[in-house]
Amino acid sequence: MPTHEVENVPPPLAEVNRFTTDAVLMTADFEPSEAEQLDRLGELAGTTQAAEWGRLANSHPPELRTHDRFGHRIDEVEFHPAWHELLRVAVGHGLHATPWTCGRHVARAAGFYLWSQVEAGHGCPISMTYSVLPALRHAPDLAATLEPGLTSMTYDPGLRPPLSKSGLLAGMAMTEKQGGSDVRANTTRAAPADGHYVLTGHKWFCSAPMCDLFLVLAQAPGGLSCFLVPRVLSDGGRNPFAIQRLKDKLGNRSNASAEVEFDGTHGFLVGGAGDGLPSILDMVTLTRLDCVIGSAAGQRAAVVQAVHQARHRRAFGSRLIEAPLMREVLADLCVESAAATALFLRLARTVDDDERALARLAIPAAKYWVCKRTVTVVAEALECLGGNGYVEESGLPRLYRESPLNSIWEGSGNVIALDVVRAATRAQASVAALEAELATTAGADRALDAAVSQLTSLLRGVGPDPGADQRGARRLSGLLARCLAGSLLVRHAPDLASRFLAGLTDPSAALGARPGPATESALGTIPET
Ligand SMILES: Cc1cc2nc3c(=O)[nH]c(=O)nc-3n(C[C@H](O)[C@H](O)[C@H](O)COP(=O)(O)OP(=O)(O)OC[C@H]3O[C@@H](n4cnc5c(N)ncnc54)[C@H](O)[C@@H]3O)c2cc1C
Repeated sequence: MPTHEVENVPPPLAEVNRFTTDAVLMTADFEPSEAEQLDRLGELAGTTQAAEWGRLANSHPPELRTHDRFGHRIDEVEFHPAWHELLRVAVGHGLHATPWTCGRHVARAAGFYLWSQVEAGHGCPISMTYSVLPALRHAPDLAATLEPGLTSMTYDPGLRPPLSKSGLLAGMAMTEKQGGSDVRANTTRAAPADGHYVLTGHKWFCSAPMCDLFLVLAQAPGGLSCFLVPRVLSDGGRNPFAIQRLKDKLGNRSNASAEVEFDGTHGFLVGGAGDGLPSILDMVTLTRLDCVIGSAAGQRAAVVQAVHQARHRRAFGSRLIEAPLMREVLADLCVESAAATALFLRLARTVDDDERALARLAIPAAKYWVCKRTVTVVAEALECLGGNGYVEESGLPRLYRESPLNSIWEGSGNVIALDVVRAATRAQASVAALEAELATTAGADRALDAAVSQLTSLLRGVGPDPGADQRGARRLSGLLARCLAGSLLVRHAPDLASRFLAGLTDPSAALGARPGPATESALGTIPET
């Protein structure tokens, strides 16, 4: 318009390699072949093309097609082509599978983190496919048959018999109308038939319903059991899987979350009859790890935008990045994001190195803390863009709407905090493993020492009074995760540690309100573009 010139607005975020520009990620000890793969994925994740796929997949949400034009039930969901592009890249880089064939969990975690910064919703089927194998291996014959498809690096969409496809994706269905946390209340029934079971009932949340295979909990004669439910049977016929509706969700709009009815649905037992929970928990441990990774990705994507804006926007005569108070806010955002990154890298290494005792406490505690913190971090990053941050085109509203989700699924905040208490009470080896881990940085920082001593008292105090333990579960879980993150920063990013540790025991302080040191180092985690 001739009325004004557009000025004082930041340039679009230049194409950046999201791997090589991430200082904390780069502290991980990747092998050269892993670093090469991550470099390629990080470059693609920073392109405008990838960002456009993310935007399109969310602006054109999936649509349910219950019937074909002749009236037959088809129960299919139609996605925008951008959704398929996102999945093609994710599967092509093995984000759903490499640790089960040729890779390490830590490298796959880094890849999932990089690619989730582009778009979160498609991470759901990727994460569920990554996590399904340890559970499926409770049925060795089924696992042997299906593993080649589940670990294939080919994305092959469409409902066809699993063994005829060049790549498979998997989902899970536990939650019912009457309860999601308390899955023992499941009412779906499974009756033995000829070599399989027949399922009758419903699932109230079943995400990514176009996956090929689902792990489903149902009540069998022997108790709550886990079943493999394919969408298409080996003879090519559709397995009854009536999608009633897709949820109208706050965020996660690229992904479909369905309400499903089972009526005469074929299921194949995974694990022993009555062992449904222990079997599916092998899957849930890894999906919880992915909740931490996905949340860390959301934090990083938001904080990069905030720092970029502040480097280019001027107010009251100077760039925002030069305003002392804005620097404090941005520095706190950077260290929060760095702590989340350091945490997920360590958690992934517990899986690589089979450190089950540490993982048993650290994964739920980190899931509790990082997922909850993401809402605060993303909201503050959004505000750094002022009014523009509140507008869809900035991308921040999408990150914000996504941010509460990882805290809800795979164990909501309270449920996961109670799980931490359960582990602290029952698994003494886990407490010992955590204490040994934290002892590696004992004496390095007074604030960390004080927090660890507070944590130790809380851990030693759990036991006799279950009510008291439950009431303190969030305090324990949050402190545990923050102590671990602080200790990791001391070891791997000492420049950032002091600032994170300054706010360790007072996490409720608003971002930017903790007079923390090391502002320069913190801002240095986002290179100038
Ligand atoms: C977008 C989306 C996709 C999903 N996809 C799937 C899917 O693919 N498959 C699937 O199986 N499920 C899925 N879920 C469901 C999800 O896992 C459940 O919503 C979640 O487990 C919580 O269960 P609920 O909704 O029944 O809540 P409830 O179990 O009713 O819990 C409500 C609240 O009470 C708290 N609470 C529960 N018990 C206690 C207690 N003892 N003490 C204190 N507080 C407690 C919880 O923390 C929660 O805050 C999805 C959910 C969402 C939002």
